[in-house]
Amino acid sequence: MRIVLVEGDITEQRVDAIVNAANSSLLGGGGVDGAIHRRGGPAILNECRRLRAARYGRGLPTGQAVATTAGDLPARWVIHTVGPVWSATEDRSPLLRDCYANSLRVATELGAATVAFPLISAGIYGWPVEDAVAQALSVLDAADPAGVTEARLVLYGRSAFEAAQRLRPGPP
Ligand code: ADP
Repeated sequence: MRIVLVEGDITEQRVDAIVNAANSSLLGGGGVDGAIHRRGGPAILNECRRLRAARYGRGLPTGQAVATTAGDLPARWVIHTVGPVWSATEDRSPLLRDCYANSLRVATELGAATVAFPLISAGIYGWPVEDAVAQALSVLDAADPAGVTEARLVLYGRSAFEAAQRLRPGPP
């Protein structure tokens, strides 16, 4: 699996599946979640509502992942995963790594070859950007999910991209 770092907006990525840093309600929120629902249209939220009612009455647990249609987005599927809220006193990084690992597992189940990730938990949930990148890369580097040929980490804004590049310098 090739790992690619790009600066950009995940809603514009031409990949089979994009990952959403959702909240456990699955009913939409701010940040990348808001952008995905805005650009993807009501089909995504409708499917999220159905999933919530049928399978996740108490919400999608932190670290787990579930797929829906991508509505009007260029991608074919959205894989929703719930990152942990950053804690200075408790190491929640296993749950953050679960988000990446479980999203890749869902990608394999869907038959998605290319998958784009946002920097999960590094926005409203407060995870320090450099460590969020390190956690993401630790999973992606070690993963070999069947059928997935590219994992794209989409950094939103120059400073997040530069932080990621410090850990993983790209081609000149
Ligand atoms: P969380 O609640 O998991 O922190 P956020 O959506 O607030 O979720 O932030 C997760 C990451 O997604 C942050 O690094 C944020 O800058 C980034 N982000 C926000 N909007 C977009 C977007 N349109 N495309 C890609 N990344 C985005």
